[in-house]
Amino acid sequence: MLPRPAEDYARRNNLYGVKTLSFEEIKKLIASRLSDKRFAHTMGVVESAVKLAERYGADVEKARMAALLHDCAKEYSEDKKRALCEIWDIPTDDILAKKISITHSLLGAESARRDFYITDNEILRAIRYHTTGFKDMTLMDKIIMLADFIEPTREYYDGLKEMRELAFTDLNAALRVGITETMRYNERKGLPVHPWGYDALASL
Ligand code: FE
Ligand code: FE
Repeated sequence: MLPRPAEDYARRNNLYGVKTLSFEEIKKLIASRLSDKRFAHTMGVVESAVKLAERYGADVEKARMAALLHDCAKEYSEDKKRALCEIWDIPTDDILAKKISITHSLLGAESARRDFYITDNEILRAIRYHTTGFKDMTLMDKIIMLADFIEPTREYYDGLKEMRELAFTDLNAALRVGITETMRYNERKGLPVHPWGYDALASL
């Protein structure tokens, strides 16, 4: 085991025979990790992310890869999520500890790095923040978060139609709808809203 910066450097420069996997190889692994329904969702996110990346001039290959991996940790049990947060040194605040499901995005980024040999930060951070949003999101962050909201297998929920209408004309407006609706949903259910969501909204 190398310290993380050394390991990342080694991967980027292909030292020590460090691996990279193709999209198709990762797709097979993801299909085996996820339920059929979640895999169909994932491929829907890939489709939407590619279209959004083309529309807004983002790196299409990176968007495709981030979308493929965005929910790779989603189906870990709550116990496994808790344990991996500890083992992988992912700090959990009160809200993350209470609503451990949100950590699937943080764990997903870490799993993408460790298990799928992804070193690209643009991809990793888009995975990391796809559930909550984050202050000053990058174009890639926005594309993955919105693709997750609007992908074609999604069934009706509040805001979906409006987001689909706005997605290709006003990325920020579409995301504002998605984040606001998510907050409303959580508030209705008495669930906590993570502060990163408010930060995201304020910076869109
Ligand atoms: Fe997710
Ligand atoms: Fe998702």
